[in-house]
Amino acid sequence: MTQRIGIIGAGIAGLSAAIRLRAQGHEVTVFEANDYVGGKLHAISLNGYRFDLGPSLFTMPQYVDALFELFGENPRDHFNYLRKETVCNYFWEDGSRFNAPADRSAFVHQMSEKFGEDPKKIDSFLRRNAKKYNLTNPLFIEQSLHRLSTYISLKTLKAIAHLPQLDLHKSLHSTLKGYFKNAKSIQFFARHATYNGSSPYKTPGIMSLIPHLEMHHGTFYPEKGMHEISQSIYRLAQRRGVVFHLGEPVQEILLN
Ligand SMILES: Cc1cc2nc3c(=O)[nH]c(=O)nc-3n(C[C@H](O)[C@H](O)[C@H](O)COP(=O)(O)OP(=O)(O)OC[C@H]3O[C@@H](n4cnc5c(N)ncnc54)[C@H](O)[C@@H]3O)c2cc1C
Repeated sequence: MTQRIGIIGAGIAGLSAAIRLRAQGHEVTVFEANDYVGGKLHAISLNGYRFDLGPSLFTMPQYVDALFELFGENPRDHFNYLRKETVCNYFWEDGSRFNAPADRSAFVHQMSEKFGEDPKKIDSFLRRNAKKYNLTNPLFIEQSLHRLSTYISLKTLKAIAHLPQLDLHKSLHSTLKGYFKNAKSIQFFARHATYNGSSPYKTPGIMSLIPHLEMHHGTFYPEKGMHEISQSIYRLAQRRGVVFHLGEPVQEILLN
């Protein structure tokens, strides 16, 4: 049944929810407090240059492509990106730097050379991260946490059976200390906690699955910058009839 749906916020979450609901045939209206869409995924222009704000590392581009495919559109006609050979360039205050290669064996080799870590330990850490990712991805990313069926499934039982290997009971920092001796290697992997504003001293060790996501599935850079992610799906939403009210903060939700 077609419904009238209001969405508060035109960040990447609101935009993609609007597109998905519109693809199901609903009438969708988005209310956004700012006079632009994208939320944290935004850019500014200064002296003829564009500066991306907020996110800088693009992973899992297939979920952006999927929004175009919902309407039978070819994403490549609207949004393009390149796979990066260097995941990230890291800088320390003492002047040292590390350019993390996307290629796994090059990463293990260069990290071991740079930080004096045992390559076997790096390898075993990366394998453990892969396991964490593969056990939890089908539950947290591919499924809705709002459906009972997510919890009553073989995949959930498998994840529960492997709970000790998820490092839920200790912090990311203490998980890292079990593998690495150089403070810089620990900082390197601890920074993934900050992706969602967490502290590596408080967030659980399962957070180490993020490097696996970056190194195994790759990191990407959109043509025309990160901002193009929100802009291209905003144009898609508009083409498909989602109605936007920008500069309209929602003050109250009235339930009738
Ligand atoms: C510095 C930084 C770096 C990051 N780096 C990365 C990265 O490299 N890779 C990555 O994947 N992620 C990264 N992230 C995280 C990523 O940016 C966010 O997870 C994502 O943009 C959040 O999108 P969202 O739609 O959930 O929220 P938001 O982008 O916060 O959007 C929420 C929207 O709701 C609007 N809103 C709020 N209240 C109201 C109201 N009452 N009425 C109307 N509108 C309202 C806001 O104005 C906003 O536009 C980074 C974040 C930051 C801050």
